[in-house]
Amino acid sequence: MRKWVYRFGGGKAEGSTADVALLGGKGANLAEMANLGLPVPPGLTIVTDACSWYFAHARSLPEDLKAQVLDGIAGMETETGRSFGGSAQPLLLSIRSGARASMPGMMDTVLNLGLNDETVQALGHDAGDARFAWDSYRRFIQMYADVVMGLDHEAFEEILEDEKARNGHEYDTDLSAVEWQHVVALYKRLIEEELGESFPQDPHVQLWGAIAAVFASWMNPRAVTYRTLHRIPEQWGTAVNVQTMVFGNHGSSSATGVAFTRNPSTGEKALYGEFLVNAQGEDVVSGIRTPQSLTEEGRQASGFEKPSMEKLMPETFREFTSICDRLERHYRDMQDVEFTVERGKLWMLQTRCGKRTTRAAMKIAVDMVDEGLISTEEAVSRIEPPSLDQLLHPTIDPKVERSVIGSGLPASPGAATGEIAFTAEDAVAAESEGRKVILVRVETSPEDIHGMHAAEAILTTRGGMTSHAAVVARGMGIPCVVGAGSMRVDLRNGQLICPGGVTLKRGEIVTVDGSSGHVLKGSVPMIQPELSGDFARLMEWADAARRMAIRANADTPQDARAARAFGAEGIGLCRTEHMFFEGDRIHVMREMILAEGETGRRAALAKLLPMQRSDFTELFSIMHGLPVTIRLLDPPLHEFLPKSDDEIAEVAKAMDMEPAFLRRRVEALHEFNPMLGHRGCRLAISYPEIAEMQARAVFEAAVVAARETGEAVALEIMVPLVSLRPELDHVKNYIDRVAQEVAQETGMRIDYIAGTMIELPRAAIRAHVIAETAEFFSFGTNDLTQTTFGMSRDDAAAFIPTYQRKGIIEQDPFVSLDFDGVGELIRLAAERGRATRSDLKLGICGEHGGDPASIAFCEEVGLDYVSCSPFRVPIARLAAAQAATVQRQASVAAQAANEASPFP
Ligand code: ADP
Ligand code: MG
Ligand code: MG
Repeated sequence: MRKWVYRFGGGKAEGSTADVALLGGKGANLAEMANLGLPVPPGLTIVTDACSWYFAHARSLPEDLKAQVLDGIAGMETETGRSFGGSAQPLLLSIRSGARASMPGMMDTVLNLGLNDETVQALGHDAGDARFAWDSYRRFIQMYADVVMGLDHEAFEEILEDEKARNGHEYDTDLSAVEWQHVVALYKRLIEEELGESFPQDPHVQLWGAIAAVFASWMNPRAVTYRTLHRIPEQWGTAVNVQTMVFGNHGSSSATGVAFTRNPSTGEKALYGEFLVNAQGEDVVSGIRTPQSLTEEGRQASGFEKPSMEKLMPETFREFTSICDRLERHYRDMQDVEFTVERGKLWMLQTRCGKRTTRAAMKIAVDMVDEGLISTEEAVSRIEPPSLDQLLHPTIDPKVERSVIGSGLPASPGAATGEIAFTAEDAVAAESEGRKVILVRVETSPEDIHGMHAAEAILTTRGGMTSHAAVVARGMGIPCVVGAGSMRVDLRNGQLICPGGVTLKRGEIVTVDGSSGHVLKGSVPMIQPELSGDFARLMEWADAARRMAIRANADTPQDARAARAFGAEGIGLCRTEHMFFEGDRIHVMREMILAEGETGRRAALAKLLPMQRSDFTELFSIMHGLPVTIRLLDPPLHEFLPKSDDEIAEVAKAMDMEPAFLRRRVEALHEFNPMLGHRGCRLAISYPEIAEMQARAVFEAAVVAARETGEAVALEIMVPLVSLRPELDHVKNYIDRVAQEVAQETGMRIDYIAGTMIELPRAAIRAHVIAETAEFFSFGTNDLTQTTFGMSRDDAAAFIPTYQRKGIIEQDPFVSLDFDGVGELIRLAAERGRATRSDLKLGICGEHGGDPASIAFCEEVGLDYVSCSPFRVPIARLAAAQAATVQRQASVAAQAANEASPFP
């Protein structure tokens, strides 16, 4: 016989919290509470498998299930001394949904089931309170009609409002028994008129109808959407709980309420919740009456006049708080509970781990360590790493109202306010005068870098989550909204045209919220991040638990300082080309690119040398002896040149040359596929003098920084886009030669290692050969993803969303590492590389270095470090700690299994 039904109540239960897959969250926790001896109205849970059965069999219920339910109800009758459908002491039931993952309010519940024209009399007689009985009956009819018969509740509410108005009542609780009886008659008539059938009087018909309706609610559009959003599998199904009713609407010593055992927004250790006297569950959420505060403190804080539960029902309140304590200690987490008081007797109706803000999660985890409830490792595992983003950036004060004038994709979190600048030059100019600016562009390109650095936030009307603006903003840790397609940049008239007729001119103030994607008019009060206290303690525990080092991708002194403030243990990627876009350097850079021979190039490079040297000196000084990976020039040279005719004319004038000549040079450098073109180590091999200048700048800076700080930088020089070992050999030769020269000139030898980025499939496959020269690998997963898939990141936005919608891929591989393809290449390269050189240092740079799932993969493969943008360093620290803990636990479990095995 198949077991469809699990019972609970009377201090015991057939299931427990462990059975959540079978019983759903609500059912499993009701069972657990019953086992703990807490006051839970007796009931039964129909398992989630019955939901699949129901849908697989033309929406019907198995016969043996019905028999088991009736058996369970008989048990409830014995325990309560009542009878279902009985004419003396009727047993009423609540029929409640409850899936494996909490889906609050998404599915249906029916209360007061079992009432009809006869049992309502019996209930009133038995309770000595006809008003209460008729109030329960009208509630039942309305809920049943809504959930089971598909009649909207609004028509019922209209009837009730009319009736209250006719009798001059303000609240539902003011209605008398006779008035409720009249409402019931009107309700029943409405059903007959609307549906042409009468309200079912047979409690068994009601029972099967309600159970089927709750199963059916698994597929209602609300629930389906919620599941899609929260990735809850459809196969899970919902359980159904059939439970004895207890009555919070039984006069003034009765009540119903909800509570969090700690404050869910601040995490403060204080009971937090609301209740309503003489009411049933749905009244608290429906907003018919303003609920009252549970505690005196809460009442005072919220300014409510009506007394708290603490004051009104002191004894029940004490019992309730002690149960809350008990539940917290039992589950070792903050609980979200539902309860009802029936004529002074407390009943627990639900408990679950409560949802909370990141701030609250942090405080609760740290407090629970101090209270001895959980270990530091467990505290670390309880914070979702991406949620730290909420804490690391200024955010808009949630208490203020938002006047949203447009929105796009939330590309980089945090919020910032400033005046609108439509060009990078305007942004730089305003910043140099000490004003705060928001850079607003259709889209951004590398030429906008200086403007992006000057801006507080970036807004683009085009582009996706991996567009240039999005990637760079995340790297710089500034808020960014992209793809705000409903807004239009009108460059000619210097204005931003927003939907709904709002137009903002250059210089007008806007606020960009990169966490929600909202654009707001004017300035808004902000909350500043708090990085000490609980945050600092939690991060300390995370650092103790993790194995991999965390570095940052940092190109500027500003990035490097941010990286250290967030706890980075080095720089995993310094993209030197970004230094060439700053200020006047672009002119010298262009001079170098446009020079017609090596001599001309060398002359321009000589001018770039001191600039690059001073950048490196500052970077090394800030990093104070920590490892720094410097990557040689990577992008194709034409990225530094003007494109449009206007730009060409402007640059030609500034450089004192013929526009036609400049255009010819630009055209000569044009490439069909720049991503696969003349870039990376290919440049260094064609123009060794560029690599030599960069190497010289690095070594000379290292000498200066070491003399200044007394700490020698742990230098790593990285050659990009290698696919053949001889490429690396060539470039390494130039570097080694310069190193010797500088050592002779300065009398100081700088230790360094040379390595390569692994960003081409051939490099991964030939890793054992490349490792003969390379002393480290850094997986450049942005390019490795592009080249493995053969898709360009900048063009992927045109088809990736379609792929996701059609189920061809689940995740954007540029956001979360493709474990099966790109990941396999990383695994292979790591193994082959280490087979040649056992102390080969392995790391990852690129967007994936800040993605928790990708970090878990890096831990599994055994990389030495991950490198991500400075603002993601705390997220990476936490994610790496969690990944290390999981690995440790897995290996302990494997060892235990091994020891238990009779075949060692
Ligand atoms: P949801 O999952 O939407 O919270 P519930 O099944 O918890 O739905 O039911 C909602 C409310 O109905 C509960 O908070 C409680 O107030 C009330 N309720 C549920 N079961 C009972 C019961 N056995 N006795 C009294 N009230 C109940
Ligand atoms: Mg509930
Ligand atoms: Mg690359």
